[in-house]
Amino acid sequence: MKYGELLNYVGGAYVPPMTGRRDLDVSDPRTGDAIARAPLSQATDVDAAVCAAKAAFPAWSAMPIKERVQVFYRYKALLEQRIDELSAVITEENGKVVGEARAEVLKAIELTEFACSLPQIASGEVLEVSRGVECRIERVPMGVVASIAPFNFPVMVPNWTIPNAIALGNCMILKPSEQVPISASRIADLLREAGLPSGVFQVVHGGQEAVEAICDHPGIAAVSFVGSTRIAKVVYRRATSNLKRCLALGGAKNHLIVMPDADREMAATNIVASMSGCAGQRCMAASVMVAVSATDHIIDRMADVARAMVPGRDIGPVISAEARDRITRYIDEAEQLGAKVIVDGRDARVPGSENGYYLGPTIIDHVTPDMRIAQEEVFGPVLVIIRAPDVDRALEIENASPYGNAASVFTESGGVARYVMERANAGMVGVNVGVPVPREPFSFGGWNESRFGVGDITGRGSIEFWSQSRKMTTKWNREAGRDWMS
Ligand code: NAD
Repeated sequence: MKYGELLNYVGGAYVPPMTGRRDLDVSDPRTGDAIARAPLSQATDVDAAVCAAKAAFPAWSAMPIKERVQVFYRYKALLEQRIDELSAVITEENGKVVGEARAEVLKAIELTEFACSLPQIASGEVLEVSRGVECRIERVPMGVVASIAPFNFPVMVPNWTIPNAIALGNCMILKPSEQVPISASRIADLLREAGLPSGVFQVVHGGQEAVEAICDHPGIAAVSFVGSTRIAKVVYRRATSNLKRCLALGGAKNHLIVMPDADREMAATNIVASMSGCAGQRCMAASVMVAVSATDHIIDRMADVARAMVPGRDIGPVISAEARDRITRYIDEAEQLGAKVIVDGRDARVPGSENGYYLGPTIIDHVTPDMRIAQEEVFGPVLVIIRAPDVDRALEIENASPYGNAASVFTESGGVARYVMERANAGMVGVNVGVPVPREPFSFGGWNESRFGVGDITGRGSIEFWSQSRKMTTKWNREAGRDWMS
């Protein structure tokens, strides 16, 4: 096995789990071959990580933020230098094609760049509120915090939280996905090389037991979670019932409303890229296209673009054999119920990678809103098309989803675009954009069952989550009169 047995990273050193090793195989989704074994850590391992973080916290939090961010300037430079190496690890453990893996690292670089600007953004406020009396707000770290990550972005999602939380003075425990744990060790290496003091960042590998221990540990003040809605609910309930601050991002079912006047080429290429990029395993991926009235010319072009994609070259595998089989069942069921599979990726084969978990882009037309495939998160390269007679019916279909991550409209009409933007029931809305991810300094965060808790996970919106405000009132003017506030 290329990477062998992975270790936790605690107090600046790689350590085995404390209570005997129980492992999980990590496989390369392109081949199905095992490439590493990740330990399934338990409560004692989480406790050791919390102790190391607690010990590091006084010195790290006492350092001025301008000094703390120097680590992230160096970390950003290291991410840039090691982009090939990191992208290769992402491709091996997650399956992404090289361009997608590189894009993920580039996004991590952008996130780090934002953290470097925190001294300018999170600088607090001061005001003389009456003669000689000053009120001042400072941002103060929470203490030891934890970040729980999903499999679909092994480098980007951890970096949604690491640079901001740590630059703001917290010490962090990362629990990466047990399906893609290798990148987390590389992140730990780069942070150490960038000069982050021991104990400020730890990695605890594992699954359910490690997550539950994080939610229960009294030494952890705040928990961020990114993953499926089912587990987001579990984590949010458990962490908040233990009186922790929690922000839990869940799954998605993103709707794209396509009007007949949309630019044919732009709409077709953007929509196919959105539904097939990262093999559809993105919480911002296009999942349902609501085709309003006469849009066949756009759908025909989409089918051409999708059919031209070569699995293994343009589209990577999904994460596991279970994921591939689950996605295939959704397609089979929709077909049996009368939907028309116009581009079929079920028989994708990649020569030399016969055991890989490949699916080609799949487009299914004439799906009805009551079908499971129209309602549930499929998390694969599958786009369903629901036909609607007008924009109000399209919005009704979009609004009925319990999720609320992203929605987009494709049109050349500013009026229609505005109409949809104001009525779509999602936290991130796009016009002529297939993946409407806000870029720094704007924050990332959905609504409804795509996010539990208050605030966003990146950008300005994350500052509130990773810090608390200390309000200070001072009076140095003895001559100032006394009033009811004195
Ligand atoms: P997942 O919910 O299965 O796992 C996420 C994390 O939870 C992992 O670290 C995993 O170890 C842990 N976990 C799994 N089962 C658990 C349990 N029973 N109790 C406690 N912890 C448990 O998600 P995934 O399959 O890794 O990732 C895909 C999901 O993540 C999709 O639903 C996708 O939409 C979502 N996602 C959402 C966003 C967003 O911003 N909203 C971003 C990326 C991914």
